[in-house]
Amino acid sequence: MNSVFSDSATTIFESMSRLAAANDAVNLGQGFPDDPGPEEVRRKAAENVLGGWNQYAPMMGLSELRRAAAVHYERFQGLDLDWEKEVMVTSGATEALAGALMAILEPGDEVVLFQPMYDAYLPLVRRAGGIPRFVTLRSPGWRLNEEDLKRAFGPKTRAVLFNDPLNPAGTAFPREDLELLGRYVLKYNAIAICDEVWEHTVFDGPRHIPLMALPGLRDRCVKIGSAGKIFSLTGWKVGLVCAAPELMKVLSKAHQYLTFCTPPNLQSAVAYGLGLGDTYYEGLKDSLRASHDRFAKGLTGAGYKVLPSQATYFLSVDLGPAGDDAGFCARMVKEARVAAIPVSAFYSENPQRGIVRFCFAKKDATLDEALRRLSAWKY
Ligand code: PMP
Ligand code: GLN
Repeated sequence: MNSVFSDSATTIFESMSRLAAANDAVNLGQGFPDDPGPEEVRRKAAENVLGGWNQYAPMMGLSELRRAAAVHYERFQGLDLDWEKEVMVTSGATEALAGALMAILEPGDEVVLFQPMYDAYLPLVRRAGGIPRFVTLRSPGWRLNEEDLKRAFGPKTRAVLFNDPLNPAGTAFPREDLELLGRYVLKYNAIAICDEVWEHTVFDGPRHIPLMALPGLRDRCVKIGSAGKIFSLTGWKVGLVCAAPELMKVLSKAHQYLTFCTPPNLQSAVAYGLGLGDTYYEGLKDSLRASHDRFAKGLTGAGYKVLPSQATYFLSVDLGPAGDDAGFCARMVKEARVAAIPVSAFYSENPQRGIVRFCFAKKDATLDEALRRLSAWKY
């Protein structure tokens, strides 16, 4: 069996969700919201299942959705995309990531990865034959710095896999950092695979800037989005890929052999959702901000040191330099009956220990119950 997978443990998200269920815990581990998602979008999907097309969709995605994505990214991010040549639909961002790595890498190519990193990145890079080169970000800012980039990039660098806004930190990189990374991508003639699934969740600070929008980077980026995050429908697995035509030609070859297409009923509902007015998109941010602030305030009141975050569904607490985040989470789920994710699980080497990620995209009552349990618990 292939050692990348035979040597892999079950992902932290799945194992924590199982522990949460077994202990009847409030599950603030795996990132999914309590919010059921916009009703009109779900209604469209239901109508499409009953009365619409339920056979294979076109390989590149429904033209309705590809067009809607191009219009959407123009409206929110100022991108000028040719929907026919530069937009593709995949079965979730995860497929898009796997496909991009397969399409871009030759065995032995180096890929720059930023720790903490989403857990799928490393096995997918390795399985595609890539050699990881790590850059380690540090709390509380989780910012890029040039010395680290200098060490990680080299003549064999083929790609960089960059997640902004950043899961698990919940931070968004400032433009200055994007410019720095962009300079290295250009200098080494690399391709940036930009995981921007959290693009619509920036609840504090300036709007998300796609790396692709920076001068010179238009043709060197693969931008990846996820309807699951845009509409709080994480089970839908509809991914959006944007890239220049030359890149897209090869990306689409990987997609055609991986899944070929994505459920048309969901695609059509997502197309509708991308056209929703600003009220929806502002509402998403407002509700994330309110939940973040409520939970951060409660945790601070219970004596935890909450790290700043401005995007995603997540905030982190810092247990201090001697903190054991994995041990803390293991005990908390059993004793306090609250599940969270140890951030050291997002590192391959030299993890920063003592940081614990909580998902706050929950109803007030869920957050309050978690806070009540945590206040009554002594670690
Ligand atoms: N990338 C990141 C950084 C994520 O947080 C997630 C899901 N939470 C994904 C990719 C996967 O997205 P999808 O569910 O669309 O496959
Ligand atoms: N992205 C989600 C998180 O970070 C989990 C996705 C998954 O369960 N694989 O919590």
